[in-house]
Amino acid sequence: ALLSGIANGAKQGILFKNGARLEMIGRIRAIAFDKTGTLTLGKLQVVEIIPIHAVSENEVLAVAASLESCSEHPIGSAITATARERGINFFSANQVQAVSGRGITGKIADKSVSVGNFAYIRDHITDLDQNILAIRERLQKEGRTLVWVVQENQIIGAIAVADSLRESAVNLVKQLKKIGIEHIVLITGDNQQSADKVAEKLGIEEVYADLLPEDKLTVIQNLQEKYHTVAMVGDGINDAPALAMANVGIAMGKAGSDVALETADIILMSDNLAKIPSAINLGRRANRIVKQNITFALAFIGILLIANFAGDITLPLGVIGHEGSTVLVTLSGLRLFK
Ligand code: ADP
Ligand code: MG
Repeated sequence: ALLSGIANGAKQGILFKNGARLEMIGRIRAIAFDKTGTLTLGKLQVVEIIPIHAVSENEVLAVAASLESCSEHPIGSAITATARERGINFFSANQVQAVSGRGITGKIADKSVSVGNFAYIRDHITDLDQNILAIRERLQKEGRTLVWVVQENQIIGAIAVADSLRESAVNLVKQLKKIGIEHIVLITGDNQQSADKVAEKLGIEEVYADLLPEDKLTVIQNLQEKYHTVAMVGDGINDAPALAMANVGIAMGKAGSDVALETADIILMSDNLAKIPSAINLGRRANRIVKQNITFALAFIGILLIANFAGDITLPLGVIGHEGSTVLVTLSGLRLFK
């Protein structure tokens, strides 16, 4: 039953790494979703560049892009792509260090530079004026993801990026509720307003924002205390601890980073979130069929035993009955192919 369930999943682009996970996903009661790259496409666009202590937009972009060209994060790709479009020359960056879920730091021409979210760059700046807080407020209200660019302990600009929702995310929450999933949450490293905006569009009621990878893991643990079996859906390195902690980790096959794919139990080949309810249903059917099969097999053995002691069963008939029931159980398991 489990093997044919796995084969059925594969036909639909749902890769189960093993049969135990197929059983487990049939028992899921709560699901946590990452935002960037999971519910959204992860194809970010730079929508605004605000020079703060820099001379021009392009200067901010040049510094950010030079550093981000070393990053794997979708925000990094968005910034480098915009810089290339504008024909900006990149500097060579060295001593580059990316901090998952926060940002990236390095050196350009012996000057220290950092790019990342507010919590991250706070540790890299010496003073913070009202002007910066006002810019932050305005852009966050618009639901933007904000990236700050710091050079030599001073903010030189901010870059606002936006992402669009995956089409397959739109009806997802409704579908999951319909099949009886009790609790759905959004967990993200992005800011609260930007997360709220996505959650509102999708009908997700509980949102945890500004999370570090280890905070995502804590959210999963808390959900497990309440709901016992919890799934986590994610794409990034920053989701890996949570994917590993969850009873079932589901990774986006195309958008997902190598670490996420390796850590997850189930992979959605074409990033189609609508396959999650299908996977749950498949798991539930597999569990039902396994139970039916065990009941059937035990009952059959019982009948054979009784017939044996009642004395009216021959050896060939007993063998045919026993092996025959095994064949029936196998055929019953094959129902999951369809
Ligand atoms: P999510 O949890 O939604 O997938 P991440 O945890 O990947 O988001 O990122 C959280 C936040 O950290 C981003 O919104 C961004 O502000 C910041 N960040 C992470 N990596 C980078 C990077 N390479 N460059 C700039 N900002 C980054
Ligand atoms: Mg992500």
